[in-house]
Amino acid sequence: MPLILTLIALAGGAGAAWLALESRREGEVTAARRARDLGLLWTALWLALAWAPVPGARLLGLVLAGLLALALIALLVPTGRPRRANSAPTARLDERTAMFARADLEPGTERFDRHYEEFPQHREADDAWRALPGLLSPDANRAEPVAFAAANASFDAIGRLAVLKRGEPADRRQDLDPAMAARFVKGWARKLGALDVGVTRLRPHHLYAIKGRGSRWGEPIELDHAWAIAFTVEMDSDSLGAAPEGVTIMESAQQYLASGAIAVQLTTAIRRLGWPAEAHLDAHYEVVCPLVAKDAGLGEIGRMGLLMTPRLGPRVRIAVVTTDLPLAADEPTDDGAVLDFCDVCRKCADICPARAVPEGAPEPVEGIDRWRIDQEACFTYWCRSGTDCGQCIRVCPYAKPDSPLHAVVRRGLRHSSLFRRLAVRLDDLLYGRRPASRPVPAWLPKREGSRST
Ligand code: SF4
Ligand code: SF4
Repeated sequence: MPLILTLIALAGGAGAAWLALESRREGEVTAARRARDLGLLWTALWLALAWAPVPGARLLGLVLAGLLALALIALLVPTGRPRRANSAPTARLDERTAMFARADLEPGTERFDRHYEEFPQHREADDAWRALPGLLSPDANRAEPVAFAAANASFDAIGRLAVLKRGEPADRRQDLDPAMAARFVKGWARKLGALDVGVTRLRPHHLYAIKGRGSRWGEPIELDHAWAIAFTVEMDSDSLGAAPEGVTIMESAQQYLASGAIAVQLTTAIRRLGWPAEAHLDAHYEVVCPLVAKDAGLGEIGRMGLLMTPRLGPRVRIAVVTTDLPLAADEPTDDGAVLDFCDVCRKCADICPARAVPEGAPEPVEGIDRWRIDQEACFTYWCRSGTDCGQCIRVCPYAKPDSPLHAVVRRGLRHSSLFRRLAVRLDDLLYGRRPASRPVPAWLPKREGSRST
């Protein structure tokens, strides 16, 4: 019996040490300290039960070991059928109602007046954020000139890249087997830096109904491509860890650029093979990227309205290529486990400084039960801070690095309802319910009032 109790002590201690070391490597100082303390407590408790000369100690240890075994079995047995599969809108959205489209409107222009004639309900909220300094403004309360210059540089580069979004296909068409073509676009996209890639048939609800940005503002969107390739790129964990500081928008812009470059390269190659293709990159979308990505099997739409991917949760950016090149399509994952976890987690709602993330259960929107964030409240916070905030992404338990440790946790989240409920509590215990931002990386200048490594 003492041997079994000692083994439990050492196994728990080793697990906690692994967690502490990984957390330290990830810069999660609080989690590292708490894992270390819990590991020491666990080891001391079980060793005391094994070896302390106290009457009844070993019997108590035996009972606790039995309970522990039952708990482990309960956690390992797949339980709890995920409840919902469809959490995404199926009606076409009007891009003019999106915040970035509204932010493009310039007072005094005909477009500006036409917008508020058609959407008078936007006026009050838009007047409120227009009175604030604005995204990337030097007068915003989290303005940091170097990070903002870097972010603007990435957005400028996206503008240059976007001229390659459309183009004529080559005269000579190369026929490819759909499975081979899908293997090629996926393999090459990954080689170019994509994390996950999926293919779906292009469906009507993937497309915006009306163009809301650029020279084609107000025009109906008609795109008759048959297929869509969606892919994700990773947003750096250290940059997001410092959210809502300026490094967050710098990273967002960088990954919009990275995903846009991949989209343009894929698109150009497909056109050179003689097939029509179009890239959908930041500020130049005809499609709603998260909806395409969901149907291409890359994830689910979670509580904060972003794509929740199996490996990095919402810590990704997405771009899309639409084409007529025949491709073998993937299936949606319809992973209700993610939505079940969102039901109980709510960390993004708790951290949101604008109270923009819904706290309750999904509500019916156009016939689909889903969460819908308050985009005006979120954008208003951005216009005050000057950055794109990102605190909801920072605290999301799914957004942890794609390491073996977190892969074990994600596997448990997929398979066990009980595990999902326990995981939320453990995440709170280790990282905190409202974890503080991590310091800004040391290679960036420090904004007064922010921390730096
Ligand atoms: S923080 Fe929690 S509730 Fe919010 S998206 Fe992530 S898993 Fe879902
Ligand atoms: S980005 Fe910030 S303000 Fe917007 S929903 Fe997330 S936490 Fe809230």
